[in-house]
Amino acid sequence: MIRTGIGLDTHRFEAGRPLILGGVRIEHDRGLAGHSDADVLTHAVIDALLGAAGEGDIGEHFPDSDPRYAGVDSIELLRTVVARLAERGAQIVNVDATVIMERPKLGAHKRALRASLASALRIGEPAVNVKATTGEGMGFVGRGEGVAALAVATLEMGSGAHA
Ligand code: MG
Repeated sequence: MIRTGIGLDTHRFEAGRPLILGGVRIEHDRGLAGHSDADVLTHAVIDALLGAAGEGDIGEHFPDSDPRYAGVDSIELLRTVVARLAERGAQIVNVDATVIMERPKLGAHKRALRASLASALRIGEPAVNVKATTGEGMGFVGRGEGVAALAVATLEMGSGAHA
């Protein structure tokens, strides 16, 4: 049985924080605000996986009211979700994601983001795709106030998995 999930996340830019996307630190004059490391791309991927598995959302699994997740490396949260899916007999078929950000330009970093996510997802890089686009100057992304990320994940549920 094949199942698909979608993930969407947004975070606000904040001075004095590192910019981390897909577990990769990107040089920029600002980072993203959040309880965790605010890795908006990894959060969208986690929600896509949880969605495909019918497992709720990231906030249910890792509440931002929980001090355990203050400043947490979101790639570790992703690894936790991937292990949970594997326990349920679910295989990740592919993940596709889009980062919507005005600056910095992501072109030079897309391969590194893909490699980082593929490693955490425990699947080959060809099964992971990271795209980048801008807000064309419109809205909160276009004004450089924050970043949005979208992701889709496809899972193949094993025979042992409950539907
Ligand atoms: Mg988030």
